Amino acid sequence: MRKIDRRTFTKMAGAAGVASAFALSAGARVALGKSPRVVVIGGGFGGATAAKYLRRFDAGIDVTLIEPESAFVTCPFSNTVIGGLNSMARITHSYDGLRAHGVNVVHDRATGIDAGKRSVSLANGGDVGYDRLIVSPGISFRWDAIEGYGAATSQTIPHAWQAGPQTVMLRQQLEAMPDGGVFIISPPVNPFRCPPGPGERISLVANYFKKHKPRAKILVLDPKEKFSKQGLFKEGWASLYGGMIEYRNASNDGTVTRVDAANMTLHTDFGENKGDVINFIPPQKAGEIAQTAGLANDSGWCPVNQQTFESSIHPNIHVIGDASIASPMPKSGFSASNQAKAVAAAVANLVKGEAPGTPKFVNTCYSLVAPDYGISVAMVYDFADGKIVKVKGSGGLSPSGASAEFHKSEARFARGWYDAISQDIWG
Ligand SMILES: Cc1cc2nc3c(=O)[nH]c(=O)nc-3n(C[C@H](O)[C@H](O)[C@H](O)COP(=O)(O)OP(=O)(O)OC[C@H]3O[C@@H](n4cnc5c(N)ncnc54)[C@H](O)[C@@H]3O)c2cc1C
Repeated sequence: MRKIDRRTFTKMAGAAGVASAFALSAGARVALGKSPRVVVIGGGFGGATAAKYLRRFDAGIDVTLIEPESAFVTCPFSNTVIGGLNSMARITHSYDGLRAHGVNVVHDRATGIDAGKRSVSLANGGDVGYDRLIVSPGISFRWDAIEGYGAATSQTIPHAWQAGPQTVMLRQQLEAMPDGGVFIISPPVNPFRCPPGPGERISLVANYFKKHKPRAKILVLDPKEKFSKQGLFKEGWASLYGGMIEYRNASNDGTVTRVDAANMTLHTDFGENKGDVINFIPPQKAGEIAQTAGLANDSGWCPVNQQTFESSIHPNIHVIGDASIASPMPKSGFSASNQAKAVAAAVANLVKGEAPGTPKFVNTCYSLVAPDYGISVAMVYDFADGKIVKVKGSGGLSPSGASAEFHKSEARFARGWYDAISQDIWG
């Protein structure tokens, strides 16, 4: 395990490291017996997996992970914290496991990417050179999309769509809400991080209310016509939560046009909806660094070659996870981690001047409708005719009308999935 402090790192990266990386191609570096250098931005589901698996595929690759936070708090299972089932410690993971795999973990924020010079600049000064760069910064928010909801508003009306202090804030607001109060949740338009996430959040808040505030109501204002696993969620809500949840879609005045934080009111075309607690999840785009570095197109997301996830805009930079345009794969942690493994394998080849392989991907999204009531959706993906395609006949949804025992097993699988993927990435 090699540890470097910031000053040494900056000196290494800024002086000898950067100079030699710029002067030599990755192939030439390998020919001279120098380690190829891969830098990864973002230590979440995509980035941390890529960093770890690069080292596993080829321990000769020098891997540096740039991540500002000292530990990672997962969005998966953050709804269980909001619903009072788990503590924050359950969803917080240290980077010690990655260090043990020989990844140089640098706690700093990437502020810019010079694709020509192949270097990343850091918030605390200095920069670091690379042969290949993997970027997995997750999402940022379109703060200008809905009147009245910006970064400042999120300090009183949380989105809780990036786990951490926002998760704690929403949990505390729900705990403080009086019985008989109204909780309003407004999910965003597509595409967004974790399509079934709002349905799970509604469910686990309802589970909390059922036990602790049985007269409370949940109002869902959705700007879409339908949402992921809708039939399965609604079946669960009907059997577990009676009339507690009112769901309004776009055709039923579900689109929020203005947020009035002072009066805790969400305005729609035809109504004003006052809540005691509001969870407003704004529209999204690729993480800030992807925007700054010119990796995103007009859609706000990053176009990539779907075989290697190399940016279609800047060569030698691979964008994975939520930030990338990887449809038909959903923006999920499982997708990000799967893409990261495929890209780590491709990059391990590319830095040695070898051709990348043909990837295959898989995604499963479990959701908890209650602690012992799980549902899931799964799909396998192939790469064909230059793009990612669904494998016909693979995957599918949990069946409707399934038994309590079936849903109990799915809830157990959900917990097993979470523990397994956390261990795989940060363990
Ligand atoms: C409520 C909720 C529930 C969810 N449940 C599930 C689930 O059950 N299953 C599932 O598969 N997915 C789930 N997801 C989705 C999952 O969280 C995301 O799809 C996943 O985190 C995407 O991985 P990523 O690597 O793209 O981004 P992230 O995991 O968010 O990682 C991004 C990292 O980049 C870092 N970063 C950002 N900018 C910079 C910078 N400039 N310099 C350095 N580092 C930077 C951030 O600090 C962060 O650590 C859920 C999401 C939500 C909101």
